[in-house]
Amino acid sequence: MHTCPHCGEATIPAWRKSGATSLRPARCGRCGGLSYVSGWTHALASLLAEVALWGGIALAVALQRWAGLLVSILGLAAVVYLVTARSKLVAVAPEAVRKARARFVLEMLVAAAIVWGLYLAFGPGQGSG
Ligand SMILES: [Zn+2]
Repeated sequence: MHTCPHCGEATIPAWRKSGATSLRPARCGRCGGLSYVSGWTHALASLLAEVALWGGIALAVALQRWAGLLVSILGLAAVVYLVTARSKLVAVAPEAVRKARARFVLEMLVAAAIVWGLYLAFGPGQGSG
């Protein structure tokens, strides 16, 4: 269990902490406070997980030994350790979570509009008529 930044009690399970983001924060079972691991930690962890996974596979192929995959397994275990044990939970207010979710929806709409615009500009049907 990890310490809630609101009440200081150890109430956040490791599995919940590892998945706690600004969009989906962990909720304290005691005080109901919301908290998450900073976005940079998740971005860094994703990058390291990719490097560990593909590095181990490349090593296994290069050495022609399954033992290379141990690098992937150990690397991924290290990433999980980094996120759950070495990172701090940041307290967040419910309004901030609502704003982060609204911003995320807006970003998705903008991304969809850009993809739709590219499709209209360069998609099938252009230049054939
Ligand atoms: Zn709490």
